[in-house]
Amino acid sequence: MEILRAAVLHTPRNPFLEDNALECYVDGALAVESGVIAAAGDFAGIRARYPEWPVRDRRGSVLLPGLVDTHVHFPQTRIIGGLGLSLLDWLNQHALPEEAFFAEANYARIVAHHFVQELVRHGTTTALVFGAHFPAAMDALFETAALAGLRIVSGLVVSDRLLPDALLQSPEKAYAANKSLIARWHGTSGMRYAVTPRFALSCSEGMLEMCGALLAEHPDVLFQTHINENRQELAGVRSAFPWAADYLAVYDRFQLTGSRSVFAHNVHASQEELHRLSAAGATVAHCPSSNAALGSGIFPMARHLAANVRFALGTDVGAGTGFGMLKEALQCYLLQRVAPEPLVLSPAQLLYLATRAGAEALGLAGEAGDFTPGKSADYIVRKAPLGESPEKMLGALITSGDAPAIEEVWARGRKVFG
Ligand SMILES: [Zn+2]
Repeated sequence: MEILRAAVLHTPRNPFLEDNALECYVDGALAVESGVIAAAGDFAGIRARYPEWPVRDRRGSVLLPGLVDTHVHFPQTRIIGGLGLSLLDWLNQHALPEEAFFAEANYARIVAHHFVQELVRHGTTTALVFGAHFPAAMDALFETAALAGLRIVSGLVVSDRLLPDALLQSPEKAYAANKSLIARWHGTSGMRYAVTPRFALSCSEGMLEMCGALLAEHPDVLFQTHINENRQELAGVRSAFPWAADYLAVYDRFQLTGSRSVFAHNVHASQEELHRLSAAGATVAHCPSSNAALGSGIFPMARHLAANVRFALGTDVGAGTGFGMLKEALQCYLLQRVAPEPLVLSPAQLLYLATRAGAEALGLAGEAGDFTPGKSADYIVRKAPLGESPEKMLGALITSGDAPAIEEVWARGRKVFG
């Protein structure tokens, strides 16, 4: 047990629905016992409540809840930065060739370590992870993440058409592999499972039907996939599934749209699809850096809010530009500022999207996402400008992002930094 003294900032409520959803304690503290938050509040009050507990003094820093990334591809860790392409070309030239290497379990293990380190280094403690196409690579991911103490939801990526042969498997093989991964990992050491068809375009009806069967057999397993990312992709889905009124209808048909479903992107959503996502209680993983980098478009956040569709932030590494969820929050702010239906997002809304909204999407709101007593002690400690209002402090913190990687600076032949 200990008391951690620093400024404390979190969003225990939804700032899109409530004013004053941002809670801040400038001279604040977290009381932590056995990895669980006992209390969060003003230091004086917490000290009085737990007079015997040791105090770790981190004044001058701010504590934020551990960040929650709702869409990040483990096997794309090494290909961040493939700029200049649109979705389908980027997949063919960058993502899919790299993902084929994960057939090699040793390679998968090395990248799993790198991936987990990158999550941790950027303050991400919970993530919904798009997995690899190979079961042994999934074991490597789950083992590494469990050892690091992270909270991970992930699953074997399944596909049976369109992709290179090395990434395809039959629905029967995919079913058996999913069953054994669920038995091995779901509900053990902070790991949970998500049924993960890559996207409708790379799946036959038989494969999507198999995914629906897995969800029916495992009522607490999650579901994740991609939707409405790129116009060329949409046209492909229309011709592959001519009976479907829209993209979401393909997933609806196989009972894949529900409150434990997370759909990445949804940039080109119809009004009808938004209504159905809202009614189903499904969540959209919004990945602003990726949407901009691939030229996919600007996420229609105003329309999602109006239709009452849940959404949270994701980095979408490796089409996204890095693992930093605070950077992603800033990118979200910038793009919504210039969207066709512009929004001016508050720092509290951005923090919520990077923390609690993600925990809610993953069914983990009772465990993570903010500092409510009883939740897991997941937090990041960061230097921060103090003395300003909480909103200003948080705005400065999101905008400044990570420290620059420049090691030395020389001017007129002299070292001026580093
Ligand atoms: Zn993705």
